[in-house]
Amino acid sequence: MSRTSYDYVIVGGGSAGCAVAARLSADGDRTVLVLEAGRSDFPWDLFIQMPAALTFPSGNRFYDWQYESEPEPYMNGRRIAHARGKVLGGSSSINGMIFQRGNPLDYQRWGADAGMQSWDWAHCLPYFKRMENCLATGSDDTLRGHSGPLVLERGPAKNPLFGAFFQAATEAGYPLTDDVNGFRQEGFAPFDRNVHRGQRLSASRAYLRPVMSRPNLTVLTRAMVTGITLSGTRATGVSYRRNGRTHTVSAGEVILSGGAMNSPQLLQLAGIGPAEVSTSVGIAPVVDLPGVGANLQDHLEVYIQHCCTQPVTMQPYLAKWRMPFIGLEWLLARKGPAATNHFEGGGFARSNEDVDYPNLMFHFLPIAVRYDGTVTEGVANTGHGYQVHIGPMYSDARGTLKITSTDPTKHPALQFNYLSTEQDRREWVEAVRVARDILRQPALAPFDGGETSPGPEVETDQEILDWVAEDAETALHPSCTAKMGPASDPMAVVDPETMRVHGIDGLRVVDASVMPYVPNGNIYAPVMMLAEKAADLIMGRTPLAPSAEPFYTHRGTAVP
Ligand SMILES: Cc1cc2nc3c(=O)[nH]c(=O)nc-3n(C[C@H](O)[C@H](O)[C@H](O)COP(=O)(O)OP(=O)(O)OC[C@H]3O[C@@H](n4cnc5c(N)ncnc54)[C@H](O)[C@@H]3O)c2cc1C
Repeated sequence: MSRTSYDYVIVGGGSAGCAVAARLSADGDRTVLVLEAGRSDFPWDLFIQMPAALTFPSGNRFYDWQYESEPEPYMNGRRIAHARGKVLGGSSSINGMIFQRGNPLDYQRWGADAGMQSWDWAHCLPYFKRMENCLATGSDDTLRGHSGPLVLERGPAKNPLFGAFFQAATEAGYPLTDDVNGFRQEGFAPFDRNVHRGQRLSASRAYLRPVMSRPNLTVLTRAMVTGITLSGTRATGVSYRRNGRTHTVSAGEVILSGGAMNSPQLLQLAGIGPAEVSTSVGIAPVVDLPGVGANLQDHLEVYIQHCCTQPVTMQPYLAKWRMPFIGLEWLLARKGPAATNHFEGGGFARSNEDVDYPNLMFHFLPIAVRYDGTVTEGVANTGHGYQVHIGPMYSDARGTLKITSTDPTKHPALQFNYLSTEQDRREWVEAVRVARDILRQPALAPFDGGETSPGPEVETDQEILDWVAEDAETALHPSCTAKMGPASDPMAVVDPETMRVHGIDGLRVVDASVMPYVPNGNIYAPVMMLAEKAADLIMGRTPLAPSAEPFYTHRGTAVP
């Protein structure tokens, strides 16, 4: 590294970090340094580049920070494992590649909070469009972008089980929709995916790699930021560890993009956060911001799995002896079972009439396998299975993140409080019942070899809740730990007009932390949208003009 000072130092070359780095460095007069703790996302790394290899990096210390929650009091004291990408591209280099914007009403909810008007749907939609290149629709589709860096392939969801699942959803009374990221989210459809020409399209591949040769952009991997340097209440740079040595670098602006776990951790380590958390580990508080590490939100999910009576599933491709052949086909042609993430379709539904928009998301897979690669005995015996992933999408459970040490390499304490609220528990029972209702419809009968997980012995509300407590995993969407909001909101951390941390100059946060509420689907696309918009705010550009495109609600078409 030749310089010791940059206009912008971005902490974390993850999803948001890659987008922000690409947009900021487009201005050749500004120097940008990206410090990424993980390794590079090498083009030859099959675990990253091959879509079907997505289960391998999770839980692997070479790619994953390997967080774990504190014992969850409403889940039998279980510690829930939380993967987070530790590699260039961050979690987008190890995630499931499912692309969901969330419901327009998610952003109406953001925008309805005091001081958050500029984050409503009308203001967010232009940024969703700017970042994407949706191949499934033509340029006459004014709701979708067609020239952004994130190329999106749809479906194809051609396996006969997808057709049967979509048909079953309609038989159970749930509609189909043309595009869950378009006018109408509610319904069932093939999904958009961050897979292009058979390969994962991470934020690094889409945003960073095409601009790596810019002379004003420096990207350092294996560079773990250990602290924010402050002069009074101004951030002046960061310290980081690389190759066993500690370095410091000064910055006109420090931009934290380390994700929903690391950004609040670095803030608390700098004395920016709840004063009692800093003092509990002997750090003198600099700014008392109670919202840092509060408001932790996530989605929890279970798999409902069935044996399949027909040999149409992807199950046989899990056999170890097939893997070299599948791998070779992918290497030579970027085709075959390894060229898909398998999350090719699903849907959004309301589990009760009280909710304004879908509170359940379904992912359907023509294979029955857990994220860690395990298969139930029933499916292993029959050789074929299918599953849906299901969970409530806007749980009112809130958790906390707190440092317990001054050592930046020690993970903070994460308490999610899953299942802690009455609404959460009620919606969990509804979620499982809706999923089972769909899976028992006539369209799936020709394939149905019986439910193997949770199985028929789980039937009453209490049995369902007990099973969820014992079996559920995180859907990997931790967020909201440094939420945007005006300085008048005592729990707000980041100014929504500038992304600046309240009370500190020269310090901004741009990643999943800043969301006020988790959207009702997977959250990668919302993170990238906010990174796109944040880049404009940081550069002092006039944000894109709000859009007046109408959107669907079950109570009638709405105009933002
Ligand atoms: C296994 C998995 C599957 C998922 N599947 C999906 C999916 O299919 N669809 C979807 O929409 N969402 C999915 N998600 C969630 C989604 O990918 C993330 O929410 C999103 O990518 C987070 O973006 P981010 O920029 O906030 O953080 P990240 O992308 O996690 O980026 C943070 C970066 O900062 C780096 N970093 C952290 N601390 C430091 C430090 N001190 N110094 C330097 N660098 C640091 C990290 O190594 C990382 O590269 C999944 C997540 C995971 C982990």
